[in-house]
Amino acid sequence: MSTGRQAPRIADIRAFVIDSKGRGGDYHDRESGHWLVDGDIATPMSGYVEYRHSRTAWGIAVLGSILVEVELDDGTVGVSTGLGGEPACFLIDKHFKRFVVGADCRNISLIWDQMYRASLPYGRKGLAPAAISVVDLALWDTLGRWRGEPVYDMIGGKTKERIPAYMTGVRPDVARELGFWGAKVPLPVGPAQGPAGMARNLEALTKYREMAGEGFPLMVDCYMSLDVPYAVELATRCRAAGLDIHWFEECLNPDDVDGHRLLKERAPTERWTTGEHEYTRYGFRELLRHRAVDIIQPDVMWVGGLTELLRVSAMAAAYDVPVIPHGSGNYSYHFVISQPHSPFVEYLNTSPQSDQVNPVFGGLFENEATPVNGKVQLDDAPGFGLALDRSAANLIRPYGD
Ligand SMILES: [Mg+2]
Repeated sequence: MSTGRQAPRIADIRAFVIDSKGRGGDYHDRESGHWLVDGDIATPMSGYVEYRHSRTAWGIAVLGSILVEVELDDGTVGVSTGLGGEPACFLIDKHFKRFVVGADCRNISLIWDQMYRASLPYGRKGLAPAAISVVDLALWDTLGRWRGEPVYDMIGGKTKERIPAYMTGVRPDVARELGFWGAKVPLPVGPAQGPAGMARNLEALTKYREMAGEGFPLMVDCYMSLDVPYAVELATRCRAAGLDIHWFEECLNPDDVDGHRLLKERAPTERWTTGEHEYTRYGFRELLRHRAVDIIQPDVMWVGGLTELLRVSAMAAAYDVPVIPHGSGNYSYHFVISQPHSPFVEYLNTSPQSDQVNPVFGGLFENEATPVNGKVQLDDAPGFGLALDRSAANLIRPYGD
């Protein structure tokens, strides 16, 4: 009896630190003046005056980007990027490597389970699943390259030919001109600035609505900066002002599932979303079973990688809750094209003033997909279709060097 095609074993996994602002999986590692770090954006630190003016001030990108390479014993090499800097590289090199090297390259679920269970004593949320995610994405990329197939074909194939994208930035007018599905803008001010801050928020959102024009979906990202009464008041005032906000995103501390349920209860006609800072199927199980949000937004580079995102997605499908992942460029695109209940993707505009369509990973890869006329099309390049740009090679440093 045939035993089928023999698969190579994994010969090595290598973690690299990326020493370059604007390249790689850490979205916020930007030069000063960039809208993503120095724009008017409310954050959980907005209550502290000295950390209000810039997200860099409180260390939003202190970890930085990493790159992971997986090499098979037949010479196939896959690659991925993500977040976590030296601490993530430490976890990969000192802890997770033992579950990867020597494994059959097809056994991604087994490797994932061992990494996750072995890191439970210190992991579960944050850095540990982020590091697991980058390993997982490198494993999927490597398997795709060995099989000669794009990742989306290994997880169900295409449910749509092109993926509509919405653009996140401070130029909803540009998003509309470029043919995007909609635009998402940041909320400028948090509750610590009181009624005057609320008025400033209304003024800013009114301006964003004017830029977007009528009828163009406009979403507001609140980046964990609000509490329940403030978020309800904000939504109520926006509605009264006719701003037609399509969703309010991540209003609360991600651990406050009950608070999200209250938002829904107190303002049931709004769409409330969250999830970019939630992790694994266990985190999303809570959001889903309490019917706390209308859309979930896991980040495939943090949630536990593609392996875990598929489990989260299966759960969400049973609640008819759409999965619209946070950022993540090609990693999200491959996932979304394969999922019937993921109608569109986020395109995080990484140009300094959010008025140009640049690759999300900033030229780290040669052939990253970017939206054209507001839509993403994927070719049939194997893996995630990302090859390291040679000119970026001198910007990556092997962990430990
Ligand atoms: Mg967000």
